[in-house]
Amino acid sequence: MPLVRGTEFLQAARKGGYAVGAFNTNNLEWTQAILKGAEEAQAPVLIQTSMGAAKYMGGYQVCYDIVKDLIDSMKITVPVALHLDHGAYEDALECIEIGYTSVMFDGSHLPFEENIEKAKDVVAKAHAKGVSVECEVGTIGGEEDGIVGRGELAPIDECVKMAAIGIDFLACGIGNIHGVYPENWAGLDFDHLKAITDAVGSDLPLVLHGGSGIPVEQVKRAISLGISKVNVNTECQQVFAAATRKYIEAGKDLEGKGFDPRKLLKPGTDAVTELVKERIEWFGTTGKAK
Ligand SMILES: [Zn+2]
Repeated sequence: MPLVRGTEFLQAARKGGYAVGAFNTNNLEWTQAILKGAEEAQAPVLIQTSMGAAKYMGGYQVCYDIVKDLIDSMKITVPVALHLDHGAYEDALECIEIGYTSVMFDGSHLPFEENIEKAKDVVAKAHAKGVSVECEVGTIGGEEDGIVGRGELAPIDECVKMAAIGIDFLACGIGNIHGVYPENWAGLDFDHLKAITDAVGSDLPLVLHGGSGIPVEQVKRAISLGISKVNVNTECQQVFAAATRKYIEAGKDLEGKGFDPRKLLKPGTDAVTELVKERIEWFGTTGKAK
């Protein structure tokens, strides 16, 4: 199946009361791991690259080619969107040109008027090419690619104004943060989430950033209140690192040809696939591609 934009399957998720997982990739193995997990779960999926990960992988064109070619060679049948995560304006435009099927323009650090003006331009250019657009108002707490957010709750009036320009899905802070949640984290603010949903209407899929480490009950409740896309990044990194550590600490890299990268990276890669399948199950999306 060719790459698809996110609009249709996220609309279906919004109506159906489930959420599509958006998993960040960092290299060839992670891309394979995410595609394998989604195919085994028969679930639609978003594979996303941060600007930093895309740079690490060799640029947006390389990311696009890897995802597109793996979909063919792995005979993937589930809908897959290639999404830019937290893109600057120029990066969003570049990804639209290259063939990404979905982009996030993150102007949340800009004055709101500038955020919305640039968002309008991204939406016009993206929609002309059939690409879906995610935008953000307020800021998400924690750190992503060196950008530290304050973790405020998204202002409702800004959510309404951003929704009105025709974006496909909205990222809005509801007490979630990027990275590892601190011990004293207060949890998601469901009253605020409900207020956003009431204000923007039931047609607009909302995005939960910082999906790693939120207890499953809170994730499910957020989905029931309008979250239709859940971003998972940190947790993939943690399970990959833990499985790799276990392999090396057991001395397996010193046995025979255990140092072969195809063997060395396999436990971590398999761990990412298992996490992807488990999160897809949490989000209620297993079998939704059928
Ligand atoms: Zn994020």
